[in-house]
Amino acid sequence: MSQDNVVLIDVYICPTCEAHTPTRTSYKPRCARTGCKKAARPPISRYCSDACGIAAVYARAKATSARQELYTQVASANNRRGTAEWHGTWPEEARQQAASRSEAIAAAQTALDVIEIRARILQHAEDRQTSLVGDSGPLCGFDERLCWSDEALKRWADAGGSLDESGPKPSTEPGTEPGTGTGTGLVCEVPKRKCKRHTDWSVIRGTDVEVNREMQTQLLAELSEQVCSA
Ligand SMILES: [Zn+2]
Ligand SMILES: [Zn+2]
Ligand SMILES: [Zn+2]
Repeated sequence: MSQDNVVLIDVYICPTCEAHTPTRTSYKPRCARTGCKKAARPPISRYCSDACGIAAVYARAKATSARQELYTQVASANNRRGTAEWHGTWPEEARQQAASRSEAIAAAQTALDVIEIRARILQHAEDRQTSLVGDSGPLCGFDERLCWSDEALKRWADAGGSLDESGPKPSTEPGTEPGTGTGTGLVCEVPKRKCKRHTDWSVIRGTDVEVNREMQTQLLAELSEQVCSA
């Protein structure tokens, strides 16, 4: 029996006992998220956890939109070159396609950089949350920087933005719910139980980071293969 299947065992009947009972080793179904090796939780869920359930939904949505985006990028890069270099020969065209792939690779690498910035902010917010306690219990602790756009995050990181809440805020980001303690407005200080805007932010944002990282890494791998075999 493979190591992967051990976690799926529901009832185990050893080979010796099999001779004396009609019961056989039975297994739980595997979590329906591709790549997850844990057992699902029938009849509650096809997934091992809420995180995997959310991740699977995200993955489907993101995979569709990322591919569309990539194809649009490649198509528009081809169009630009098509008009500019109409007299290109076939080998030239092949070279151009390789160039638009490297543009797509660069885009995927930038996306990965931003994902890592988000991952660091998320980790920072999770570490900080344990110390955020108000009069009526733990505070939400959501970090508004997790809502910043990719461009804003990159600008902030390039400008040497520090994870410390006193760091600079990009001027283009609209102000959000002001915090009461730090005075920076970056940390949500609504009591955790009462904050409706950021319910389960740690799980949801963590899943978001994981899924995006996996997807961009996969995309990069696929694109790099295409370049090498071109
Ligand atoms: Zn036995
Ligand atoms: Zn799972
Ligand atoms: Zn909140």
